[in-house]
Amino acid sequence: MADLGNFTNTSEILRKYQFRMQKKYGQNFLIDANILAKIVEAARITEEDCVLEIGPGIGTMTQYLAEAAGQVIAVEIDRGLIPILEETLSPYDNVTVLCEDILKVDLAALAEKSGGRSIKVVANLPYYITTPIIMALFESRMPLASITVMVQSEVAERMQTGPGSKEYGALSLAVQYYAKPETVAKVPASCFLPRPNVDSTVVRLTRYEKPPVEAADEAFLFAVIRASFNQRRKTLVNGLANAGGLSVTRGQVETVLEEMGLLPTVRGETFTLERFTELSNRLLRLRK
Ligand code: SAM
Repeated sequence: MADLGNFTNTSEILRKYQFRMQKKYGQNFLIDANILAKIVEAARITEEDCVLEIGPGIGTMTQYLAEAAGQVIAVEIDRGLIPILEETLSPYDNVTVLCEDILKVDLAALAEKSGGRSIKVVANLPYYITTPIIMALFESRMPLASITVMVQSEVAERMQTGPGSKEYGALSLAVQYYAKPETVAKVPASCFLPRPNVDSTVVRLTRYEKPPVEAADEAFLFAVIRASFNQRRKTLVNGLANAGGLSVTRGQVETVLEEMGLLPTVRGETFTLERFTELSNRLLRLRK
């Protein structure tokens, strides 16, 4: 099977099937063999692993993954790509293609297909689903070892930054709670067909066995974080007291801030993960 990781072979197969790229699905196919090899290497895949690929497209990266992994499960939303994938993946008996929307798939049930292997997610992500799918993967009960994904460079930065940066927010904290984020490669627009009009970066998120902080209630911690960043220009006291689902009062937030030696005018964007965890643990104790 010819390597699809170049302009000529990708265009040829698209022409053969008269496939029309769909912008709404974030279709920018990789046409650079060096980047493809780099992604697969960075994901540290072995024959022991089951890889979940989100959005295989025409199967370019799937072929590389199938060579390295014991098993590959590829989930593609666009029905029009299925006949192409049947052809390009026909040499591999360790690949299963599912035609579904990854945001609607029961991830825990999908993980059961891995036969007890740990799961590594690898994807050139459609950018419109980056945040929801990363959150869903971490929050699912699948035996997830790592996520190696191509994302918009701005999002890669958001995942790795801390207080003081304008990119810092709920995504930074969620990623850093669950995993160690690292940049693997910066990828120029010329590596895709068609070229995206944003810069892209490959990041590897290696899941921690145990989060670096101890949250008494994970869901509450994330609700506090989201509420703090939802109203960025407000003080933390206002942000939390106005948030519907939290059930905390202004007085309770002020008490906790005082216990922590902080001023009532403090803003959430200055808080580290450790500080958010302490705040949410203390609020929980007060609420009881
Ligand atoms: N992996 C291919 C590559 O690297 O050349 C294609 C990557 S392209 C950026 C994103 C792929 O994700 C497309 O094939 C698109 O149809 C698919 N996709 C978009 N939204 C999806 C969703 N919600 N669930 C599953 N696949 C999706």
